[in-house]
Amino acid sequence: MSKRDLLLDRSKAGARGCTLPVLDVPPSELPDASLLREELVLPEVSEIELVRYFTALSRLNFSVDTGFYPLGSCTMKYNPKWHEAIAQLPGFSQLHPLQPVDTVQGALRLMFELQGYLAEIVGLDATSLAPMAGAQGELTGAMMVRAYHRHRGQGQRNIMLVPDTAHGTNAATVTMCGFEQMTVRSTQEGDVDLDDLRPKLSDRVAALMLTIPNTLGLFDRNTLEISRLVHDCGALLYCDGANLNAVIGRTKLGELGFDLVQMNLHKTFSTPHGGGGPGAGPVCVKEFLKDFLPTPVVIYREGRQAAYEFARPAKSIGKVSAFYGNFGVLVKAYAYIRTLGAGGLREVSDNAVINANYLQKKLKDDYHLPHDRTCLHEFVISASRQKDKGVTALDIAKRLLDYGFHPPTMYFPLVVSQALMIEPTETESKETLDEFIAAMKMIAKEAEENPELLHSAPHNTPMRRLDEVAAARKLNLRWTPKGNDRCRRT
Ligand SMILES: *Cc1c(COP(=O)(O)O)cnc(C)c1O
Repeated sequence: MSKRDLLLDRSKAGARGCTLPVLDVPPSELPDASLLREELVLPEVSEIELVRYFTALSRLNFSVDTGFYPLGSCTMKYNPKWHEAIAQLPGFSQLHPLQPVDTVQGALRLMFELQGYLAEIVGLDATSLAPMAGAQGELTGAMMVRAYHRHRGQGQRNIMLVPDTAHGTNAATVTMCGFEQMTVRSTQEGDVDLDDLRPKLSDRVAALMLTIPNTLGLFDRNTLEISRLVHDCGALLYCDGANLNAVIGRTKLGELGFDLVQMNLHKTFSTPHGGGGPGAGPVCVKEFLKDFLPTPVVIYREGRQAAYEFARPAKSIGKVSAFYGNFGVLVKAYAYIRTLGAGGLREVSDNAVINANYLQKKLKDDYHLPHDRTCLHEFVISASRQKDKGVTALDIAKRLLDYGFHPPTMYFPLVVSQALMIEPTETESKETLDEFIAAMKMIAKEAEENPELLHSAPHNTPMRRLDEVAAARKLNLRWTPKGNDRCRRT
């Protein structure tokens, strides 16, 4: 880091970032001097120093706005700025959650219509917009599964079946909800292994959580058979629909036999979400589960002046979030669906799938492709060939940063060794994909000829390779000034 990387290093006593106009009103009393904290180390900088400081900071991070971000399973697509502007309209952004409903009819109508659009997109009957993340949507779904079985006197159903390719949140959800998790194996080809599933089905199984497409980026070809087996034993079929980018406008999950699904609006429906930003994980269910939805849902009553209101479903599992969920994210999803329309949503999945298949075909000569079949929105390659030369998936990921690309998801799913999971999304041009292919081919060559270059990558990023274990275990999120008294007020 250069000497002037911290704002304090730019500080010069007496520098000011603004000029106040000449006072034309009577001066008011200053607060009591004892309230002033002499020990505060505050930088004194001019306006341009401040602008340069924050602009430089903003360029240290990788973002979708600065480059290609093929982080598998995260759907880091470009989110139109227009939708941000819509969410910021004062009629949406300045509402108070405790306002009387007759003063917020527009917002309620938006929520009501979004409930309907989402149900239509996945082919189910009712929606809760309350959960604020995919994982929270999963938990909401699992709580509904439990409530449903208990209501029918089937409280002994305490096992959740989860395939071995599942996202880590599935296991966490199952455990948090008090279920026992039972893993179902996948076949070599990447589908759920029916021979492993059959003996695990019993009157103790509450549901099977299936991810569509699965985390290998594949559509499980046994889905209809899985649905039949699961329902025959009295259990429910849950879909982890976090990655619907290859499904919207093409396939209705309800028609495949799913009883309930959570979807990640921040992934598929246009909300920037790197770094843990706001999300929404609505849950859609079939008619017979409607009464168990969290409270509140938005209903419409014909003929009333304030026709839209909040209601509590008859056997509701209760509240899962404060107020009504992440309203700003809901507005963006609504804007996204309305601007694209049914045809546009279908084009999203068409392009997401074609982009992923293009990359898959172009990379398979240089990298091992464990599941060599048509993929959906993403695919998983393995660095096993490079590993023979001592180069790991991590080395490749770090080297990609030198070429200006965000790395793919690494070491996941766990069923593929040295996994690199690549999701290009629909918003990238062929030119960008070609640049990425060229970089990946170059890296494969470097792995052969100069592995050392990869072990020590990245070379031209603001920070070199970090100790990721220490970063996770000894989180240090707070910056504290070190004895710098150049700008201390005296
Ligand atoms: C992203 C993702 C989740 C978790 O979603 P969050 O919003 O991060 O909680 C769950 N399952 C799958 C398959 C995912 O890709």
